[in-house]
Amino acid sequence: MTINVENVTKTYESGEVTIHALREATLKIPDHKIVTILGPSGSGKSTLLNVIGGIDRFDSGTLVVAGQQLELLKDHQLTDFRRKYAGFIFQQYNLIPTLTVQENVEVGRELSENPLDMKSMLEKVGMYDKKDKFPYQLSGGEQQRVAIARALIKNPQFLLCDEPTGALDEVTGKKILRLLKYVNEEFGTTVLIITHNHGIGAMAHKIIKMSSGSIVESFDNESPIDPE
Ligand code: ADP
Ligand code: ADP
Repeated sequence: MTINVENVTKTYESGEVTIHALREATLKIPDHKIVTILGPSGSGKSTLLNVIGGIDRFDSGTLVVAGQQLELLKDHQLTDFRRKYAGFIFQQYNLIPTLTVQENVEVGRELSENPLDMKSMLEKVGMYDKKDKFPYQLSGGEQQRVAIARALIKNPQFLLCDEPTGALDEVTGKKILRLLKYVNEEFGTTVLIITHNHGIGAMAHKIIKMSSGSIVESFDNESPIDPE
C-alpha cells in the first residue's frame, strides 16, 4: 500500500469555532492507481491531499505513505519526504513567471536525488519546442503541462492534483487528464485528483467521495475509460 490513512482527524480553530476538516478519515490507496476525490466545497478534499503529501500536519490518527509513518516524522524529515515522494499540481499552475519553461522544470529537478531526463520529460508533456518560452507566452493548458513536468521530473511516487483542470476549458482539461493517465501508465505514478467534475471519475481506478470531513463512499471502478 502506498497510502494508508487511518482515523485521521484534523481541526482548525477559527475564533470560537472548531472546524472539523477531517473526521476520522480512513482510506487505503494501492500503488500505481488513479484515484479521484469528489465532494462539495469545504468537505475536506484539499486537507486530505495536503496531509497525505506532508504539506499539513494532522491532529490524530495514523498515516503511512511510501513506507513512512508521517505523524512520527520531524519537520525536516517531513520536508525530505515531500521532496522525495510527492509531486503537486494545482488549479493555478504556480509557475515562476520570471523563469522559462525549462528553468521552471529545473526547479523540480534540483529537488530530486534521481531525476528524470530534462529533454525526454519536456518531450513527454509536449513542451520541448517551447522550452525557452516564459509562462505568460503559454496557454493555460500549456502552463499546466509545464507544471506536470516540474512535478514529474523528480520521479515522485505519487502526484497530488488539486483541481488540475479547474481553470481550463473542457477540451484542454481533457488533454490534461489524458496526460495524467499517460503518466500513470508510463511511470506507474499513483495519481490522486481532486475534482468537482463527476465525469473525471470515469477514468479512475478508485473513486472517493467526501462530505463534511468524512469519507462517505469509496469504491473501485472495474472498467476505467479514457477521457475522450
Ligand atoms: P475542500 O478542498 O473540500 O473544499 P478543504 O479541505 O479546503 O475542503 O476545507 C475543509 C474545511 O476546513 C473547510 O471548512 C475549510 O473552510 C476549513 N479550512 C481549510 N483550511 C483552513 C485553514 N487554513 N484555516 C481554517 N480553516 C480551514
Ligand atoms: P492547449 O490546448 O495546449 O492549452 P490552446 O489551444 O489553448 O493550447 O492554445 C493554442 C496556442 O495558442 C498555444 O500554442 C499558445 O502558444 C497560444 N496561446 C493560447 N493562449 C495564449 C495566450 N494567452 N497568450 C499567448 N499565447 C497563447
